[in-house]
Amino acid sequence: MFPLGHVGMASLFVAPIALLLDRKRRYLPVVVLALATALLPDVDGKIPFSHHHGGPHTVLFALSASLVVGLALAFVSANVSWLARRIDGVPAFRPRAAFALGAGGALAGLGSHLFADILMIPVADNPVEPLWPASERAFALGLMTPGDPAWNWGLLAAGIGVQILVVAHVVSRIRGRVLAVQSGHSGDSNRSQ
Ligand SMILES: [Zn+2]
Repeated sequence: MFPLGHVGMASLFVAPIALLLDRKRRYLPVVVLALATALLPDVDGKIPFSHHHGGPHTVLFALSASLVVGLALAFVSANVSWLARRIDGVPAFRPRAAFALGAGGALAGLGSHLFADILMIPVADNPVEPLWPASERAFALGLMTPGDPAWNWGLLAAGIGVQILVVAHVVSRIRGRVLAVQSGHSGDSNRSQ
């Protein structure tokens, strides 16, 4: 699939994950991470001693890379939290939350890439073998060619549409919370008069 389609598919995949993690308004960083990792597996066609649809196009890579991204963010967050306890003005961010953010965002991006490539017609020389190294079985649903404009542009449009809906939902929730806090304050001040 072309980059446009991968960005669209990542935008679709990340919406439920980002909403699950949204309790502390982490929506934007999760989406950014998903989009940043959505094209990563295709580096395998550009590096030496590798071939397109190689190791980075596997479930094993998606899971282990997501784990690494989550642990890296947790490590940074642990150090920032250590600084936050000693220096005023440095914001604290719990390592557990940082891990969920990093692993969730990367898993959405990498998982969406693998899923999108499986939708394509079988690529004779470089089939997608998502279960490698456990199995060399090729997976190809044969629904599209890599450059199919309807699929690529359609997925991008669907991804942008879903993101607009989710952002509108998140903004309305935040506005609802702010209004609830403001009405609580005005209720307090009325009682104190
Ligand atoms: Zn790919």
